[in-house]
Amino acid sequence: MKKLILANWKMQLSFKESEKLARNYQAKIKNSVFEVGVLPDFSALEIVGRNLPTKLFKLGAQDLAPYLKGAYTGEVSALSLKQLGVKYVLIGHSERRQEFREKSSLLRLKVQAALEAGLVPVLCIGENASQKKAGKTASVLRRQLEEVLFGLRIEKDNALVVAYEPLWAIGSGQALKAAAAEAIQVMIKGVLANLVGRFPRVIYGGSVSSKNAADFLEWPNIDGLLVGGASLEAAEFKKIISA
Ligand code: PEP
Repeated sequence: MKKLILANWKMQLSFKESEKLARNYQAKIKNSVFEVGVLPDFSALEIVGRNLPTKLFKLGAQDLAPYLKGAYTGEVSALSLKQLGVKYVLIGHSERRQEFREKSSLLRLKVQAALEAGLVPVLCIGENASQKKAGKTASVLRRQLEEVLFGLRIEKDNALVVAYEPLWAIGSGQALKAAAAEAIQVMIKGVLANLVGRFPRVIYGGSVSSKNAADFLEWPNIDGLLVGGASLEAAEFKKIISA
């Protein structure tokens, strides 16, 4: 499997700005040895999808509804995302866990909905600064994985992605050292092997930029990157996916 680099545009751009950035990506980025995904907000999925060559860029969403259909005002179904050409969908990003109080029981339903619709869930996990300080990183990550994935049937390795994002590293400019990330990814893979009997890609996120991307990507167990702020400028993102 190729390493996977995902651009999470969050809610940083308006519809028009997303369209413009997609056009900039298209103009500036011609190839990559990596699989690359772009994750605009819901409103811009179609226009971004239309402006990016599908050979090079996969489309991703930042969230989805926990159910496929029904009276759930304001939600977006995995079925619609699939029809829009979406492949990857973030689930349990720390901003959703913190700002919107999303709990493991809800995230589990979202993973199930994504799998049922044929999307690839990108389950985000990560410890906060005080958990890290208390030496609880491994137990926190294990619990986050178990609470969401226990008993779920994952058909093949590439049907799931896990994004390891230490909370204190997101948007802070303080990335984890690549060697430390490698050791944690190995631990996560061990948990996943026991839990779902598969070896999904485990990617790293948290203050990745063109200055440190290559350091991460050279490690064998860092299967890719989730990039926030540094994906909002085409030239910078180009450097990352050329690392
Ligand atoms: C993220 O929010 O997933 C992220 C990794 O953000 P940043 O790259 O800006 O730290």
